[in-house]
Amino acid sequence: MTGPYLGNPKYTIEVLQKYNFAFQKRFGQNFLIDTHVLEKIVAASQITKDDFVLEIGPGIGTMTQYLAEYAREVAAVEIDNTLIPILKDTLKDWDNVTVINDDILKVDIRKLVLEKNGGKPIKVVANLPYYITTPIIMGLFENQVPIDSITIMVQKEVADRMQVGPGTKDYGALSLAVQYYARPEIVANVPPNCFMPRPKVGSAVIRLERYEKPPVQVTDEKLMFRIIRASFNQRRKTLVNGLKNSQELSYSREEIEKVLNACGIPLNIRGEALTLSEFARIANAFDEKKK
Ligand code: SAM
Repeated sequence: MTGPYLGNPKYTIEVLQKYNFAFQKRFGQNFLIDTHVLEKIVAASQITKDDFVLEIGPGIGTMTQYLAEYAREVAAVEIDNTLIPILKDTLKDWDNVTVINDDILKVDIRKLVLEKNGGKPIKVVANLPYYITTPIIMGLFENQVPIDSITIMVQKEVADRMQVGPGTKDYGALSLAVQYYARPEIVANVPPNCFMPRPKVGSAVIRLERYEKPPVQVTDEKLMFRIIRASFNQRRKTLVNGLKNSQELSYSREEIEKVLNACGIPLNIRGEALTLSEFARIANAFDEKKK
């Protein structure tokens, strides 16, 4: 892109000074000031002129300008009301952007998708506020929002957690939840100097391509995720103890051992060693027993 785009730090500083903007730590405000990273995010998101894009946390509109250029329509949800007049200014050259001043966790995204895109799958792109990364992603997946892909900047360590499999220290409930709904791929590592102000942690862009059908068949998804949470709540304990001690489940040791035996899972195994398909098998066996 040419022109006074905000990916150029000079223009970002000009805008911040013009509006005397004060960064709010509690909203996780670190604005991108690197055109290469912006171009990488937009390329990874595979946006075309057919797409409706939801941006979470536009800030001063740095990425929004790119999204507006490439997409058919953009809705950008920003919680900080002091950014709204700034966005009006920085996005004035595009007529395909709607800014919504709200908390993303309170927005009815399904309704938005119905109104703006006839209920067809949308693309989500965001440089996320790190303090609420997990609830945002899980909210999008669990509330059955029609989504094609999510391309997001997150803390490096969180991106790693989403991508890894069993046997690594980063493997946990988030890895399994993400991998049940989507195919994750880290597309870029982004150092702190690409942001203003600089965050304390490294960041990464990860693309989550939503599966049409999950890779495993589960008869009761909620039950499987309760089992997954229970087995990672106490990482150092065996799966049997994790399930038995869970507040969310009420199985006796005998019941648990019977199910694991039936599934061919060793009784001394820890949850962190199990794959998604093994969790699915265990959840289906508990569900079958209930019926
Ligand atoms: N997209 C901009 C960029 O790349 O420069 C800003 C990214 S900054 C990391 C995160 C943005 O999310 C901030 O503008 C912040 O005010 C906004 N934000 C924080 N919590 C939010 C929430 N609950 N709902 C909507 N926006 C939020």
